[in-house]
Amino acid sequence: MTATPCWPRVSRCRWCTRPVLRDNDGAWIHADLAYVCRDRSGGLAGTTAEPEAVARHAG
Ligand SMILES: [Zn+2]
Repeated sequence: MTATPCWPRVSRCRWCTRPVLRDNDGAWIHADLAYVCRDRSGGLAGTTAEPEAVARHAG
């Protein structure tokens, strides 16, 4: 119901900023179940779902 941005299994696509999550194989996929990004006009963007930079750096 509520779109909580702190759900750890969901990130935002670095290319199209749409929500992405992992499928059963561990691959990133958009929340609309499309691997390929789409631009605003709905055309294929040539990139696939990839989370934006995660703060993994430990210093
Ligand atoms: Zn995307």
